[in-house]
Amino acid sequence: MRHLSLVPRPTSAATHPEILLHVMSSVSTLSSLTFFILMRFIFLQFQLTLPRILLLSSLLILALSALLPSTFPSLRMRLLLLTQHLFPSTRNMASSSSANVYAKELQTALLAVQRAALLTRAVFNTTAKRTLSKSDHSPVTIGDFGAQALIIAALQHVFPADAIVAEEESSALRENIDLRDAVWSYVHETRLADARAEDAIGGPLKDTQAMIEAIDKGDSVGGASGRIWAIDPIDGTKGFLRGGQYAVCLALMVDGDVKVGVLGCPNLPVDDAARVDAATGRDQRDEEGKGVLISAVVGHGATSRPLERGALQDGHAIAMKPVEDITKATFCESVEAAHSNQGEQAEIARRLGVVKEPVRMDSQAKYASIARGAGDIYLRLPVRKDYQEKIWDHAAGDLIVREAGGSVTDSDGKRLDFSKGRTLVENKGVVAAPKAIHPKVLQVVQEVLQETSRR
Ligand code: AMP
Ligand code: MG
Repeated sequence: MRHLSLVPRPTSAATHPEILLHVMSSVSTLSSLTFFILMRFIFLQFQLTLPRILLLSSLLILALSALLPSTFPSLRMRLLLLTQHLFPSTRNMASSSSANVYAKELQTALLAVQRAALLTRAVFNTTAKRTLSKSDHSPVTIGDFGAQALIIAALQHVFPADAIVAEEESSALRENIDLRDAVWSYVHETRLADARAEDAIGGPLKDTQAMIEAIDKGDSVGGASGRIWAIDPIDGTKGFLRGGQYAVCLALMVDGDVKVGVLGCPNLPVDDAARVDAATGRDQRDEEGKGVLISAVVGHGATSRPLERGALQDGHAIAMKPVEDITKATFCESVEAAHSNQGEQAEIARRLGVVKEPVRMDSQAKYASIARGAGDIYLRLPVRKDYQEKIWDHAAGDLIVREAGGSVTDSDGKRLDFSKGRTLVENKGVVAAPKAIHPKVLQVVQEVLQETSRR
């Protein structure tokens, strides 16, 4: 299926007629005399059938090339090519570091986020979002529960051994059957319009029990070892409720480093070139031309594609926009005054000479926007000293911005450290900007923070 083929076939991979050539020239590399004497001897001694002779001779060639690599360098290379063609799963191990070893993870994550975004869009378009208040007073809706269930079910189908850190847990659904059934009605109905794409992520969930179990699989404590996915099923729930921006967020960390990141932003324009402004952050409707999937794989850049209903659309590379004149830069911040220090951020912008008003929008749509050059700088300075940022609020965005040519650090200039558990306990605040201007922005951030801490 064209849309699902995310990794171009390496041009070095052998095609069928080439296989024959490899075999023939491999054989000719050996002394033909030695070869025939050996074959005749084996044939006469062991009265072997033709398939057995072929198998034995292949083993012999393999053994010789492994034992005497300097004598048979080209033979070794041809055998490697042959093996890679016949057993494609070995290609990643043997090929250069530019091969996308996370192709399957990326494809799964894109499809999982796309399917979950179908659900969140359906909830976004109703008035009955069934909002609850969590113990930290943050809101959660049937959209959050449903999207988390769908994403985790997809991950468990393809990568059953992976750990998952997700924002929500199911106790409210266990206690309230009516709420559980409301979530189930969306989960049950949501599927990708392309049957092969839906199959690739496991198809529909079986029943309410499977849904609840899926939601609770997101309870990993995180950490520095192994494969761990981070999920925010609806980042910016307040924006989701207000009719602003929100994002479905998924990232894979391996040994504490983010390797794959996907942001589904149903209310951002498909057009990467459309600059963000105050209107981007508010009064959103689900309409034609909206909805984008922004993703990145470590070492492979960042990509944008329209968020669709079926198979994945083709993606194209995105990059941050170089900022030639910082005074004309667009900086983004949270809508919620409780989530970042808008006063300090305004002072930083003023000192940098930025003339435009900040663009306020909810969720990791801020990371997505600056990564594709629709905005330039994202500042998130802490309001409360004791607040620890959650890994699911940053993992995908951090990788996407870095792969698009940006730098993401905390206010001390340290990289965000995703290896410490469910929160970014080692970091305070976030400063994201194109590489070339990040040092300047950081310098002003630190000046302002030092002055306010002295007061
Ligand atoms: P945003 O939409 O950028 O304002 O970020 C939304 C996220 O802010 C939510 O997913 C919360 O996890 C997170 N959040 C909640 N309280 C705070 C806080 N005091 N400081 C920073 N982030 C917070
Ligand atoms: Mg969030």
